[in-house]
Amino acid sequence: MRVDPGDVALCVAEEVESGGRPAPTSPPIVQTSLFTFATFDALAEGLSRESEETVYTRGRNPTVQAVEGKLAALERGEACICLGSGMAAISAVLVGLLEAGTHVLFVNHTYGPTLQLAAELRRYGVSHDVVLDTDPAAVRARMRRETRLVWLESPGTMLFRMADVGAIAAVAREHGALVCVDNSWATPLLQKPLELGADIVVHSATKYLAGHSDVVAGAVVSSGERIRELFRRSYLLLGGVLAPFDAWLLLRGLRTLPVRLRQHEADALAVARFLASHPAVARVHHPALREGGERELAERQLRGWSGLFSFELRDAGRADVARVLDRLRHFRLGVSWGGVESLAISPERRDDGAWLRAHGLPRGLIRLSVGLEGADLLIADLAAALE
Ligand SMILES: *Cc1c(COP(=O)(O)O)cnc(C)c1O
Repeated sequence: MRVDPGDVALCVAEEVESGGRPAPTSPPIVQTSLFTFATFDALAEGLSRESEETVYTRGRNPTVQAVEGKLAALERGEACICLGSGMAAISAVLVGLLEAGTHVLFVNHTYGPTLQLAAELRRYGVSHDVVLDTDPAAVRARMRRETRLVWLESPGTMLFRMADVGAIAAVAREHGALVCVDNSWATPLLQKPLELGADIVVHSATKYLAGHSDVVAGAVVSSGERIRELFRRSYLLLGGVLAPFDAWLLLRGLRTLPVRLRQHEADALAVARFLASHPAVARVHHPALREGGERELAERQLRGWSGLFSFELRDAGRADVARVLDRLRHFRLGVSWGGVESLAISPERRDDGAWLRAHGLPRGLIRLSVGLEGADLLIADLAAALE
């Protein structure tokens, strides 16, 4: 991991305003729905600047603003809005930017609910396509005159394939489209899409950023102007805000993000290498275990690896996947990822492979989120389950 030392300080240090009195180490939770003003003129002035001023907690709240400031700085963006979930963040971007007649191009494997939301937006006249081939020429071939937004995950959902953010951003720019990167896998410590040429970054802060599977949260980072536009057009009106207490949990999670990620990286690599050498495993999908150009891209674009990857059981279907998953003792079965506990799940939920094929996924796929129990224990668990 080659994390910027300044980023580590940003995550760990907490500067709490205390008006000259001894300062608490942890910021207050400003648990209020509204803020009152001394005069009507001051209230009117506050309302005219609701994207900056604390007026009502559906808009700004100091505890939420504390996290927003950190995430904006970590992503090298000018501003951030935090929301009540990753999907609220994604909704705010799609609803805030798109209008009837526009088109979105999803590049690489995309988080399922993001695509489901795009399908719902068809009812509002917004169309979309998915291109799994991340080659910039393949992306260019799918751009349309009305493409307003290119949506990108790198590494992508489920197979963790890399996409060249800079090259794809250049294609989007040729066509006057914006690029939004879902950076949940890498976190701003391991990848900075805005520096690579993207316009907007979204996060499911539920995952590594909060890191303890105890809060659902999301974030959008971009230029000050674009965040103000999203604030006005979708954030404030869709109303999917992050509660002050959840913002406080997210701040607490961020303090240990650098040290957690270092351990997730090391343990996930050890588990991935064990699986890559196991006879029952056909393939491991981890960006560090790619070869050739994709590996070079991963080295160039990422400052390290997080702990989420997948592998394919050899000649397997749903029943084989279920047998292995049911024998795991330390990996627990569940959705989501990025917490301290190790989790396993598979997209093999139906009996035939048609759904998987339609979504560009292989049979026998198992996704692991490697937590912090220790690599030896997890490898022993997998060894026993695969026997
Ligand atoms: C979980 C996830 C989301 C959605 O975030 P929520 O906090 O669950 O709403 C978005 N993108 C990716 C890549 C995710 O894994």
